[in-house]
Amino acid sequence: MHIVVCVKQVPNTTQVRINPETNTLIRDGVESIMNPFDENALEMALQLKEKHPGTKVTVVTMGPPQAVDILKEAVGRGADAVVLLSDRAFAGSDTWATSYALSTAIGKLEKPDLVLFGKQAIDGDTAQVGPGVAVWLGMPCITYARAIEIADGEATVERLYEDGYEKLAVSLPCALTVLKEANVPRMASLRGKMAAKKLVIEPMTAEMSGADPAKLGLNASPTRVVKIFSPPPKAGGVKWQGEEPEVMAQRLVDLLRERKLV
Ligand SMILES: Cc1cc2nc3c(=O)[nH]c(=O)nc-3n(C[C@H](O)[C@H](O)[C@H](O)COP(=O)(O)OP(=O)(O)OC[C@H]3O[C@@H](n4cnc5c(N)ncnc54)[C@H](O)[C@@H]3O)c2cc1C
Repeated sequence: MHIVVCVKQVPNTTQVRINPETNTLIRDGVESIMNPFDENALEMALQLKEKHPGTKVTVVTMGPPQAVDILKEAVGRGADAVVLLSDRAFAGSDTWATSYALSTAIGKLEKPDLVLFGKQAIDGDTAQVGPGVAVWLGMPCITYARAIEIADGEATVERLYEDGYEKLAVSLPCALTVLKEANVPRMASLRGKMAAKKLVIEPMTAEMSGADPAKLGLNASPTRVVKIFSPPPKAGGVKWQGEEPEVMAQRLVDLLRERKLV
């Protein structure tokens, strides 16, 4: 079995700070890490590899040259091969162009049985890239996966909802976006770290991926960031305290009636 895991390098913060003058994200001084949900996707692949001997795990990222750091981390944890998709032609790609670029790189690899993604990236947060790549590759996609079993060319996947989960059977190849509760990601092993240290990663360029240049980068991206801003803090609500519960409940009912909410 061949499993491809897509991982993204993201700033190590869930606190998005925005420059109020330029309306752009402030990234200076923020350490870069593997997107936390992608760690769960990688762990799912590594656990499947342990269960199904002969499985190969390839980790793919699209990003600037420094994204090699997360690929080395992936090798340290047990990935067999890595692909760094890196070229100025990809700069400014939105989720549509990113999905297309990743699908062309995956198309250059040994045909995958499974393509795994994190649930979402903690910086862009759109959760669009996994399903987007699946569409380009012509594969079914199950989002919000928390468990998977594979037997006889079929995957049985638990997909989470707010109030429960559903169990789906899907034939391979397929794509999955993986939740945090799927597993606890392992640390890199000493042997893995040594292998990662020796690794020389030559980037795959846009030309090498065979991607159509007209579908890459900012100009090919159908979405535009028109404005980015921190929402103003909410004004405080009405608060009653220190009176009998019945009195406060009546005040609440009166207020809701006054505002025509009941
Ligand atoms: C409207 C809009 C405009 C944008 N404009 C720009 C821009 O001008 N310049 C710019 O640099 N960025 C821009 N971006 C950001 C860029 O499009 C996203 O970072 C990228 O497309 C991934 O989307 P996301 O972060 O929402 O990932 P999600 O869709 O939330 O990620 C889901 C999963 O997909 C995989 N994945 C996502 N990205 C990658 C990747 N690069 N490599 C491998 N796997 C990946 C991971 O498994 C991840 O967990 C823009 C985004 C939007 C929404």
